[in-house]
Amino acid sequence: MNLEGMRRYENDDIVDAVVIGTGAGGAPLLARLATAGAHVVALEAGRNWTPEEFPSDELAASGIYWLGERLSAGETPNAFGANNSGTGVGGSTLHWGAFCPRPDAHQFRLRSEFGVGVDWPFAYDELVPYLQRVEAFIGVSGPESYPWDVARRYPLPPVARNAPAQLLKRACDALGVRATDAPVAVASQNFAQDGAEERPACINCGACHQGCRIGAKASMDVTYLPLAVRAGAEIRPECVAYEFTYDASGEIVAVIYRDAAGLERRQRCRAVFLCAGAIETPRLLLHLGIANSSGQIGRNYMAHVATQVWGTFADETRPNKGYPSSLITEDFLRPADADFVGGYVAQSLGMVPVTWGQQVARARGLWGRPLVDYLQTYNHAAGIGINGDCLPQDGNYVELADETDAHGMRKARIHFTAGTNEVRMKRHAERLMTALWTEAGASDIWSANRYAHTIGTCRMGIDPAHAVVDGTGRSFDVPNLWVCDNSVFPSALAANPALTIMALGLRTAETFLREARA
Ligand SMILES: Cc1cc2nc3c(=O)[nH]c(=O)nc-3n(C[C@H](O)[C@H](O)[C@H](O)COP(=O)(O)OP(=O)(O)OC[C@H]3O[C@@H](n4cnc5c(N)ncnc54)[C@H](O)[C@@H]3O)c2cc1C
Ligand code: SF4
Repeated sequence: MNLEGMRRYENDDIVDAVVIGTGAGGAPLLARLATAGAHVVALEAGRNWTPEEFPSDELAASGIYWLGERLSAGETPNAFGANNSGTGVGGSTLHWGAFCPRPDAHQFRLRSEFGVGVDWPFAYDELVPYLQRVEAFIGVSGPESYPWDVARRYPLPPVARNAPAQLLKRACDALGVRATDAPVAVASQNFAQDGAEERPACINCGACHQGCRIGAKASMDVTYLPLAVRAGAEIRPECVAYEFTYDASGEIVAVIYRDAAGLERRQRCRAVFLCAGAIETPRLLLHLGIANSSGQIGRNYMAHVATQVWGTFADETRPNKGYPSSLITEDFLRPADADFVGGYVAQSLGMVPVTWGQQVARARGLWGRPLVDYLQTYNHAAGIGINGDCLPQDGNYVELADETDAHGMRKARIHFTAGTNEVRMKRHAERLMTALWTEAGASDIWSANRYAHTIGTCRMGIDPAHAVVDGTGRSFDVPNLWVCDNSVFPSALAANPALTIMALGLRTAETFLREARA
């Protein structure tokens, strides 16, 4: 993004806040603070990009993946890297899929409704106005009438349905499953953003996960971050925060970071917003040994059940063409025949070829000639995928390993074992998706067992004995430390997470502003 002419602060200026991380949590928060007149500096570990630099090529796009080594443990260890976290000015939203359903109200009350997991510390209704504001600002495209919430309106008409979406729609209609155009944070027509530059309409190139070259996809570098910079925020790319200094009362007075030249810097500040994502946020806090009187930092790591089912069709599908996930069904958020709690949303899937090839190799165990032969069917493939709730569990957590990174900081080790609930949900979804693809006429149907997104690890709650931050994101232990990213989720929710994180970003910023003015 264009950072020329941006306001600059000196390290000795005492800014109102330092925001660490510019992804789905940090960016809206930074913009909200800056537009309210606060003096804010964002530190971002990754580099700054202009959209034209995004390569539309899977191998060349690795610069936007968080590739710092993470160690995976547990019986269903998660794959990191390209799979589920990004870096750069804009964070993981540079290569997110922009699939943007709202969370389901019931899933904020898992403990009350099902007796498992935990409730969120505030009601879903409180989040709705923030969700609406995010959708209006970033330009979410969606159907005129949303079957599961008929009062809902999206600011833009739906994006075009690609071949997998058309096949899935016909199968859903035949089996009595309600399905509609998915809510996606992609401009289906030229979109004039309030306070930021106009974004062009999607050209259906299908390279969303490699960074959108034209800015049709709502990554933070073309939405909230330009707004923040216009309002006077400073963004410092390639700056890694690794320590704080404190006053006698234990409040943070400066953030110590390594700048792009490798030099140690110290930015003085009145408050810190840690928005580094659900792995780096607990890693940093565990490394510093702060804000953990509850012992909850790193605990309750969650990953969505993200099973996919693929099939081969007689007609060409060209799965790399078009926005990849243009159809949704929310009929399975609480299936009547479920032997699990919670539920899932399902979406049609196109996919770019290398990612698909890797999936095939892993899921089907193919290698060498048989793999090469099967990949010849690529232009006839179509997929369906789910995003399903995951329960918080004691055995799933992030800890510091003994191994250190190039700067001497201990690496994160992430333990994840899918529980009975996740396994039952996966089986239910596999049956459904297989039935849909059978109905659609697919042959050679197969399933990939996957888990996606990094969630939990610094959960919000009411009780300081069981949560790291309160219901607004403020640390119970360090009064001027706030956390706002995927880590604060007490439960995973079935919806893909970024819309909720952005809404939390606005909500946390406004709480801070209210308190600062009081
Ligand atoms: C391939 C992919 C596809 C996805 N698709 C979807 C989707 O379709 N829909 C959806 O809702 N979600 C999707 N997601 C998930 C979504 O992008 C994330 O949930 C969301 O971006 C997380 O927001 P965050 O603020 O927690 O972290 P991030 O967006 O990851 O931002 C954290 C930022 O902090 C920076 N950082 C970390 N440590 C430091 C440090 N010490 N100092 C300075 N900076 C630091 C990182 O570089 C990063 O830029 C996808 C993610 C990926 C990777
Ligand atoms: S499909 Fe549309 S949103 Fe995705 S990268 Fe291409 S132009 Fe951007």
